[in-house]
Amino acid sequence: MQYDFDLFVIGAGSGGVRAARFAAGFGARVGIAESRYLGGTCVNVGCVPKKLLVYGAHYREDFAHAASFGWHLDKPRFDWQALIANKNAEIERLNGIYRTLLTNAGVRLLEGHAKILGPHRLEVAGQTFSAERLLIATGGWPQMPDIPGKEHAISSNEAFFLEQLPKRVIVVGGGYIAVEFAGIFHGLGAQTSLVYRRDLFLRGFDGSVRTHLRDELSKKGMDLQFNTNIARIDRQADGTLNVTFEGGRTQATDCVFYATGRRPYLDNLGLENTAVTLDERGFIEVDDQYQTREPSILALGDVIGKVQLTPVATAQGMAVARRLFKPEEYRPVDYAHIPTAVFSQPSIGTVGLTEEQAREQGHAINVFETTFRPMKLTLTSDQERVLMKLVVDRTTDRVLGCHMVGPEAGEIVQGLAVALKAGATKHVFDETIGVHPTSAEEFVTLRSVTRQ
Ligand code: FAD
Ligand code: NDP
Repeated sequence: MQYDFDLFVIGAGSGGVRAARFAAGFGARVGIAESRYLGGTCVNVGCVPKKLLVYGAHYREDFAHAASFGWHLDKPRFDWQALIANKNAEIERLNGIYRTLLTNAGVRLLEGHAKILGPHRLEVAGQTFSAERLLIATGGWPQMPDIPGKEHAISSNEAFFLEQLPKRVIVVGGGYIAVEFAGIFHGLGAQTSLVYRRDLFLRGFDGSVRTHLRDELSKKGMDLQFNTNIARIDRQADGTLNVTFEGGRTQATDCVFYATGRRPYLDNLGLENTAVTLDERGFIEVDDQYQTREPSILALGDVIGKVQLTPVATAQGMAVARRLFKPEEYRPVDYAHIPTAVFSQPSIGTVGLTEEQAREQGHAINVFETTFRPMKLTLTSDQERVLMKLVVDRTTDRVLGCHMVGPEAGEIVQGLAVALKAGATKHVFDETIGVHPTSAEEFVTLRSVTRQ
């Protein structure tokens, strides 16, 4: 049977666009549907606008430091509307680039919601198409606990478009988004509380990183409330939100921002017309080649709930395109040593095993850890400190993990990730000449074991 397309991709986000472009480049007839915004979460309400807001927020400290370097400014004034308008213009530019990328690659773009009608059939904006294979790349959506008054709270989707910077914000959650946005609001001058349900945020990250960031944020005056849950939110006549915590304590605020994880986005997708199955958390179940239980349907990216990061979604997209249309170049995605950054202030960069994971996995380890005041701050009164840490296997000398909290941690850890992937030992780190004077050189000059 002749289908309209060899591959039809649902969702033009990080993973979908990569798969579509490469599949078309390999000669396949490819269609893609996008219901909301080209480039998906990352470009529109994720990585990109988030990083722009982080840059914006950091100016506050930069202005404060400037006087120590002889630069005197009148009192800086922050204009939220200007930042959001400039951010929006940049996102529009990127939307255009994604459109060009797709059309130049020969992908047929259909703007509308796609609903699957059967293993090889789908409907987009009133038109029906057939495809030999369907690829679900529909991403995720913020989820909030079901508490009274949750309709008064916002998620990251709305945070990017607030008309005004709230004076007081309560951010709920202890993951990437909560920590990043608490830093944005605090940096921009809002009175910010970060509320997390357990005793320390960023569960799963290295213990030293978590405590170091906690201490740095406290030093900067952020209000951290751990072991705390919101019971209800009430809106008062003047718009103030009255938050009642479990236990009865209350706090008035102008904005409650939930960053309590993301669910797979499967709304009105038509999965009931297929044999696709979901795992116990509700994400689409796939094998290690992104194949669902329906032979003609694949899925990748946030909707499979494996690792919710853009470079992982794009790597999966590339793997799918190659396996289907250029099998001689296929190689599976390697999930070991995925580097990641949390764009908190200060930021976190990490790759490889945490100290806790290394111990759990039975490695005998040497831990090398240092904290110091970065050179740029020595002329200022800012007491922010950098943390750097290596976790090393004592038997093989392999560096198992690199962790950092401090300026440009993501930039630094990206390079170290190459070394870890290549199997670098501590000896190789020691033999590497530093770049002086930088913070990064500390990673090659860590000589004494902090603990075993
Ligand atoms: P998405 O990018 O979400 O794309 C899915 C697309 O499918 C969307 O455009 C959606 O509109 C469309 N769609 C859904 N259903 C349909 C349908 N039925 N028909 C048509 N279209 C449909 N990752 C990083 O690596 N670094 C970061 O700094 C980072 N920051 C983030 C900050 C925030 C606030 C958030 C929310 C996420 C962040 N992420 C970051 C994660 C990253 O954005 C995701 O991992 C990535 O976007 C996943 O790509 P995807 O292709 O799976 O889905
Ligand atoms: P995460 O899964 O990272 O964190 C969710 C947080 O919310 C956890 O601290 C969790 O607590 C808490 N939580 C979950 N349910 C509840 C509840 N009912 N009540 C109170 N707290 C709750 O999700 P995010 O929303 O922060 O981000 C989603 C994903 O997007 C990230 O995991 C990451 O993969 C990606 N991302 C990547 C970024 C980057 O690369 N810099 C930036 C932003 C997002 P607990 O620890 O107890 O489970």
